[in-house]
Amino acid sequence: MYQISKRLQNMRYSQTLAMTARARYLKSLGNDIISLSVGEPDFLPPDFILNASKKAIDDGHHYYTPVAGYSKLREVICNKFKRDNNISYSPSQIIVSTGVKQSIINVLLAILNSQDEIIIPAPYWVSYCEMAKLCEANPIIVYTKVENNYKITPEELENAITTRTKAFIFSTPCNPTGSVYSRNELKLLSKVFSKHPNIIIISDEIYEHICYNNEHISIATFPSVYEQTVTLNGLSKSFAMTGWRIGYIGATEWLTQACEKIQGQTTSCANSIAQCAAIAALESSPKSIEYMISAFKKRLDLVVDLLNDIPGFILLNKPQGAFYVFPNVSNFLGKKFNGKKIKNTDDLAIYLLETANVSTVSGTAFGYNNSLRISYAISEDKLENAFKRIKNALKF
Ligand code: GLU
Repeated sequence: MYQISKRLQNMRYSQTLAMTARARYLKSLGNDIISLSVGEPDFLPPDFILNASKKAIDDGHHYYTPVAGYSKLREVICNKFKRDNNISYSPSQIIVSTGVKQSIINVLLAILNSQDEIIIPAPYWVSYCEMAKLCEANPIIVYTKVENNYKITPEELENAITTRTKAFIFSTPCNPTGSVYSRNELKLLSKVFSKHPNIIIISDEIYEHICYNNEHISIATFPSVYEQTVTLNGLSKSFAMTGWRIGYIGATEWLTQACEKIQGQTTSCANSIAQCAAIAALESSPKSIEYMISAFKKRLDLVVDLLNDIPGFILLNKPQGAFYVFPNVSNFLGKKFNGKKIKNTDDLAIYLLETANVSTVSGTAFGYNNSLRISYAISEDKLENAFKRIKNALKF
């Protein structure tokens, strides 16, 4: 009798992608679904990037690239890290991968042994825990407080560290809460980490440019933790290129060499055409994508108003970045709507999909039982329509 490995039995399906697949299926049956589940910008990638990829095809970029990525791209990434984040990396400290997801699993496979601990502040992005479990490590979840804007404090971090702690992973701006760590908050966390130089800090900065009022800061800018930090970024969110699957890391050389070893045996390299597009994207000034960021900001303000207009939703924090809101929905739990009992947030997400034709993601995917994640990366018209439907479906 064949059996799935224990490692995989332990891992759950990605709830963001499962919800999106369900919404897509219902749409294919002719249902008018509005998707607020997946974090995917509705813009086209900028023309200059599309033209660079067409040129890459014409120029004959059809073959394997170096495992770590084209050397030109790695140079451009170094310049980008210096220009936007004030971090100095050399090309040998860069690995280009098939999306940030692959960058993360490369790093985790490179550093985690069975039973090692990885600290994950919650609410966390859906795949951190499951990837850690795939590596047979133990995720140590730290439940952050809303009064701290869902950000881990130095004391909470210190208390979670044990002799088994190997890594810490977080995102800023944060998916799903939209919180952004300030320079001072990161400085205080880096003070704790510098007392534990064996802990690898995995800093997911994929929403770097989608940051409204606060400045985005990379924890690797603090010299005391530079050596122990892996800075992750990619093209999906800022350049509206989710399907192109380009992610990259900047890290200390022993770690990039380890990731290169893994990647050489698993995927060979990231897509060659997408790498040429990435050169154009990352050489350009962040000004070229400002129009998308201002649209997201307008949508956030709209969504906050629309949420506040529905009795029962409580938005405890005002997001400062990314394109999600994470309202508390406990007022709806244990109640009946249109004859359906809503026991938990999983039920609520399914109910909204089936009754209002609106897909969202249950907070349980992000380690929180009383919230719902709503992505606002779609047009204002669609958002207004979606919230009208939600309001109708959740009348007390
Ligand atoms: N990162 C996006 C999200 O959280 C894309 C889906 C995924 O890869 O989980 O919705």
